[in-house]
Amino acid sequence: MILVQCWIEHPVRSLDQTFTYLYDRPLTAGTRVQVFFNRRLSVGFVESAQETNETKEQIEERLGMKLQTVQSVLDEQSLITDELHDLAMWMSKTTLSTVISCFQAMLPAKVKPHTGTQKAVTEKWVSVSEAAVELTPKQLEAYAFVRDNQPMLYSRLRSEYPNQASILIRKGALAEQVKERTATIAETAELVKPLPLTEDQQTVKDEIESSSDSVFLLRGVTGAGKTEVYLQIAKNILDRGKQVLILVPEISLTPQMIERVSSRFGNDLAIYHSALNAQEKYEQYRMVMTGKARVVVGTRSAVFLPFTDLGLIVMDEEQDSSYKQENQPAYHCRDIAIWRGQYHHCKVILGSATPSLDSYARALKTVYHLVSLSKRINLTLPDTVIVPMKQCMKQGQSYILSDTLIQKMEERLKKKEQCILLLNRRGYHAVMRCRSCQTPVICPHCDLAMSYHRDERIMKCHACGYQMKLPAVCPSCGSREGYSAFGYGTQKLEQILQEKFPEARLLRMDADTTSVKNGHASILDAFSRHEADILLGTQMIAKGLDYPNVTLVGILNGDEGLNRTDFRSCETTFDLLMQAAGRSGRSNVSGEVVFQVFDPDHYAVQCAAAQDYELFFKYEMQFRHAGQYPPYTYLISLTAVNAVQSRAEKTALWLKQNLNGSYKTIGVISLLKIQDRYRYRIILKGRDLEQMRNDVRQALEQKECPDVSSIRIDVNPTEMD
Ligand code: ADP
Ligand code: ZN
Ligand code: ZN
Repeated sequence: MILVQCWIEHPVRSLDQTFTYLYDRPLTAGTRVQVFFNRRLSVGFVESAQETNETKEQIEERLGMKLQTVQSVLDEQSLITDELHDLAMWMSKTTLSTVISCFQAMLPAKVKPHTGTQKAVTEKWVSVSEAAVELTPKQLEAYAFVRDNQPMLYSRLRSEYPNQASILIRKGALAEQVKERTATIAETAELVKPLPLTEDQQTVKDEIESSSDSVFLLRGVTGAGKTEVYLQIAKNILDRGKQVLILVPEISLTPQMIERVSSRFGNDLAIYHSALNAQEKYEQYRMVMTGKARVVVGTRSAVFLPFTDLGLIVMDEEQDSSYKQENQPAYHCRDIAIWRGQYHHCKVILGSATPSLDSYARALKTVYHLVSLSKRINLTLPDTVIVPMKQCMKQGQSYILSDTLIQKMEERLKKKEQCILLLNRRGYHAVMRCRSCQTPVICPHCDLAMSYHRDERIMKCHACGYQMKLPAVCPSCGSREGYSAFGYGTQKLEQILQEKFPEARLLRMDADTTSVKNGHASILDAFSRHEADILLGTQMIAKGLDYPNVTLVGILNGDEGLNRTDFRSCETTFDLLMQAAGRSGRSNVSGEVVFQVFDPDHYAVQCAAAQDYELFFKYEMQFRHAGQYPPYTYLISLTAVNAVQSRAEKTALWLKQNLNGSYKTIGVISLLKIQDRYRYRIILKGRDLEQMRNDVRQALEQKECPDVSSIRIDVNPTEMD
């Protein structure tokens, strides 16, 4: 008999353990099986399979319980490596999530240990067999065709010899083989040679390559030449036969990165991101596992690919919020990258113009090795103008486009240069208020104001996507007087621009215009071919674009983010302003940046205008110290989420009462309702993260803990709103 231990998806945290089953044939760890669990056929993930000489009865006697048998085996080969197995165990401990949820986060959808999985796509191959059979001349011809090109896809044979193909198999002249379909990497045309490095770049490259440290923070303003340094270090690693992983925040927003990597490394490259379909992801997964893919450029989940011989990990724009997974398990890609770097004894380079406060603080404490590129390759930084909107509005200027911005745009457009305008709110009007009682139209499923979208004449909730017509009768006071509009989004901005600059060609990029496949790419391509003069959009245009002809960037409502209650709101605002400013003047033409803000004296605005990261860091660390926020402390956020309000509240209260130690327990905080779910949160804040984790784990394992499966756990949360 084989004793099988497997992980099974179930909601009870105290049961985060393996379950025992029996099987009569050998099994491989890391494969999926079907088993009955609570009388339901479920998918289990095999942890171990041990052979024993005992019979079923003897085993049951020894263990003192009845055992069931494995119903079927879904995979022949292990889906993971030993490394990924250890990683899942570590992740489960550090993020306080179940082991099975960690395996699920790692594996592509096709092979997730999840009940109701899809199957991998297979294809049939043929080759000639040894058997001596009599064949007609035409059959012989088909046979020779296979012999000269084997192994051959059956579909190819059938298209050449439709009448002979199946007969040859039936006669036994050809042997069939069913294999999983594998990805083919697109051939790239011409490879581009590396650029000769500047002195600064060479120094940084030498320092990283010769140091025995493992984690590096490479700080350099946008355009300083970080990417070129990554690529040249990667080249040396590849030449030694090792694999390279390059993590980027969002593929569709960084088309230039893909272009540069593929023109450098050609056929060795695999690209892994959320827009791939399940089959494509699975194929890329297998290619990395078999070592066929040697360089991978990918987003967050690429950090789990089954590399066998990793020689370098690069994480570009390491401060980007997309690296943090908010769902369970709430992991940070950076932590995973560093763990894997240690496992493979390879270097990890974190790159950024505006490193996260946490990383920079670590670098100053020499936990990470800090290297910097201080100058832009083209040696100029854009000139920044801060426009105080309150004053402008008092003088009767438009609350959307200040006179300063309009005048600068006119100048640039006259010279046939391009402008980018960034407004972090989509839709037409931000809020519609009842004319009688002033109550805004609120989403029936969330506690959030809905925005008016004029294109479709519809109200949309940006949190849950719910849409509805503007109600004829105010739900709050019953009045029929109608609504007044407040605030503005990208749709309204587009209309204003059309009126102001009737000659200019506009492109709008936001969640509404990019929902079609390749929506991002087609807009960005059109803009880079200068098919438009002005690109306007939400924060998605602030990232990684490199357009030499853009000489003016305007940021509207640039400090809106400061109004959020999150302790990181200054950091994210500073980051957005810095990045957006980095879009301007990327070539020899000098660039300009306009910040339209309501609080021009705020240090986040002032430091971004001066492109002074260091000064911002100093101010922000003072603020974090005063409030005892990270990186001075650690946080764990526990949120009870439930459709029944009283249940969510009760769970949070119970957690508060049962979590007391040498840390602060903050809350219970009532959050906005989202998607019909009430949310109540408590936050642990302290210096001893290990103790905080242990206490949470123990609390969750108590029988008395209400509704455990409804508790969302986030260790080191990045978003607190
Ligand atoms: P970053 O990643 O820091 O934003 P990049 O590596 O993208 O910077 O470089 C910015 C621009 O400068 C790119 O257009 C790139 O092609 C160019 N560049 C980078 N390194 C060199 C070099 N050594 N010589 C000439 N041009 C370079
Ligand atoms: Zn009303
Ligand atoms: Zn909603």
